[in-house]
Amino acid sequence: MTAADLLVVGAPVYTADPARPWADAVAVRAGRVAAVGQVRELADLRGPATRVLRLDGGLVLPGFQDAHVHTAAGGLELARCDLHGVEPAAYPAAVARYAADHPEATWVLGGGWVMDAFGTAGPHLAMLDAVVGDRPVLLESTDGHSAWVNGRALELAGITRATPDPPRGRIERDAAGEPTGALHEAAMHLVGHLAPRPDQADWEGAIERGQAHLHRLGVTAWQDAAVTPAMLAAYRAVAARGRLTGRAVAALRWEVEQGEAQLAGLVERRRHGSVGRLRASAVKIFADGVFENRTAAMLEPYLDGDGRPTANLGIGMLGAEELAGVVTALDAEGFDVHVHAIGDRAVRDTLDAFQAAAATNGRRDARHQIAHLQFVHPDDRPRFRRLGVVANAQPFWSCLDGYMRKLTLPFLEPERAGRQYPWASLRRAGAVLAFGSDWTVSTANPLQEIEVAVYRVGPTDRDGEPFLPAERVDLPAALDAFTIGSAYALRLEAETGSVIPGKLADLAILDRDPFDPAAGPLGDIRVLATLVEGEPVHADPSLDLT
Ligand SMILES: [Zn+2]
Repeated sequence: MTAADLLVVGAPVYTADPARPWADAVAVRAGRVAAVGQVRELADLRGPATRVLRLDGGLVLPGFQDAHVHTAAGGLELARCDLHGVEPAAYPAAVARYAADHPEATWVLGGGWVMDAFGTAGPHLAMLDAVVGDRPVLLESTDGHSAWVNGRALELAGITRATPDPPRGRIERDAAGEPTGALHEAAMHLVGHLAPRPDQADWEGAIERGQAHLHRLGVTAWQDAAVTPAMLAAYRAVAARGRLTGRAVAALRWEVEQGEAQLAGLVERRRHGSVGRLRASAVKIFADGVFENRTAAMLEPYLDGDGRPTANLGIGMLGAEELAGVVTALDAEGFDVHVHAIGDRAVRDTLDAFQAAAATNGRRDARHQIAHLQFVHPDDRPRFRRLGVVANAQPFWSCLDGYMRKLTLPFLEPERAGRQYPWASLRRAGAVLAFGSDWTVSTANPLQEIEVAVYRVGPTDRDGEPFLPAERVDLPAALDAFTIGSAYALRLEAETGSVIPGKLADLAILDRDPFDPAAGPLGDIRVLATLVEGEPVHADPSLDLT
């Protein structure tokens, strides 16, 4: 038998292979798993040149695959005015510091502020004007659906009390009708289109920075969930240079205004966009917005804060018929269609669209998926399995955080409130569950995401009340959703997603075993090493892996 290049021993192996979930050693040869099993079964594979990685406990598992993440945009944000993790009270100081450190920047750009710090009205421009008056400031909310701008930015864009709300967007105003500095959905663009655009070099740097961030967290593959032509060009350049160390599926962004005229361009970009570990095989459509700013498309109206129904059903980005037409056309071209849907009406319209596509084109081996799934009407749960639609879930959101307590629950009656993030129900109904972080909306750390999936409590509120505990999934199910489940969503399950002889040796090594009750909170477990095809793309200095 040919000797292995690498033997990993000393920690249990969770394989995500239902036929053999557990082992205690992995052998790697030529980038692939040569064998997995007991240490003595693999003894024959040890040759004079075999490196042996001896772990002192922990866990070996398939590399995490993030089914919905913004790697390129996140990498860009890491280099900008980054408010993630900053206390809201300290936002102005952080903006002032960034502006002072970057006198050359003609705009102060960044993001990561949380909406729940400001209530539904959003943040006010006065807070920014107090620290930056000379230059425009444009800061995206952590969910990417709203922007906070200063007075200079509004002035440059010519936004006044006389400016009407654009289609599919809203300018936040005070009682007198004056814009207050928060712009939602399409209104963000009124200012955004004036800001300097990142160039190709900026995007290439961003992709490598974002990729390194994911590798440190054990991620070996991801779906970049809204890739523009500029981002794809940068991805191609990084891949062509051999610097794409993770596997990336680019979900090409569908632009509503361009309609079906953009189809030929997407087909062309898919053809060019398969380089090395990059594939541009998916298209991303936004079916609606988000609940917190009242743009999620709902079957029943939003309530006002006092429990009375309003006339507002949210914003469907496309009409149901238009959505069905677009999805059918993309399906006919062989794209995997990835739809953002938060509200129960958006989810239903999207399932209807997938059903229409199957009726017109016939069923094929598609990896259509709906991401976010905050509200799923119980009648729609079995349709995921029936239609073969992947439930692309962001488990970090399924807890009683500020967004839920302050911006969501007060606007819902208990019945609808109880239908949120139904991961266990969808699984029971036979849906393939794929987990993704939606970084930079939320942390990219899969172990923190998994902690919330398993306990329905956030890592900053571990003694708090669980949110809809009946929707918890157990640890193996959560790990599967972040490995083999997301591999399926990425069309990578034949080659990755579980530790099986013959598959590529994409692995994550954890410092503790999450199955060990003494390991402490799941979200505190660290990734010691991340391997892609047996080569370290991240390794703790304490490991002898270089
Ligand atoms: Zn997203």
